[in-house]
Amino acid sequence: MRDRLLAIAHKFAYDNLSHGTTGNISVRDDDGRTLWITPTGMPFDVLSLDDLVQIDIATARVIGGSRKPSSEVPLHTQTYQRRADVNGIVHTHSLYATVFSTLNRPIAAVHYQLARVGDEVPLADYATYGSEQLADNATKALGHGGAVLLKNHGLLAVANSVEEAYQNALDVEWVAHLYFLALQIGEPDVLTHDEMQRVRHQFEGYGQKS
Ligand code: 13P
Ligand code: ZN
Repeated sequence: MRDRLLAIAHKFAYDNLSHGTTGNISVRDDDGRTLWITPTGMPFDVLSLDDLVQIDIATARVIGGSRKPSSEVPLHTQTYQRRADVNGIVHTHSLYATVFSTLNRPIAAVHYQLARVGDEVPLADYATYGSEQLADNATKALGHGGAVLLKNHGLLAVANSVEEAYQNALDVEWVAHLYFLALQIGEPDVLTHDEMQRVRHQFEGYGQKS
């Protein structure tokens, strides 16, 4: 699990999702009771296994690692507590998703690439970074979805694995960029729930699957 988290953290540094040391990533451990998270305020490209911090999900206490953990531990622990299906979380300040977080405008399904995430990316009420209130607002607005915007802050992407959560963060950023560009010209059309359902079904067989 720590190796998988580290591999994603290294990609994070080069995929334009992270600005400086902002953002954080975690995985739920195989034991189900603990998570591993990135340390606070460290560049992602130079992280090593020893920099990762282990946290008890129920109490949010540090139980392993020597670094100070991400300031967003409550966001991660509350999400794992409320979503038994989630095993990986990626929090970003990626630019175009964050643009939408400053407006009262969820990211709409202007492209089918959003289908794995949901029919839209909803928006959670503002609260200070690192706070229990932010975690509460985020998990409530997230519901059963794959991502949620954090008002005037950034994005939270979740999935069954950290690799899928990372893909969700990339997909949201790509659709947010597209949406932003379309809005320069006019008001883009939005795909219906039925069409997004059709795409989700079709995605199950996408790629080199037999
Ligand atoms: P950390 O460096 O503490 O993980 O925090 C970055 C961040 O994005 C806070 O919201
Ligand atoms: Zn943040």
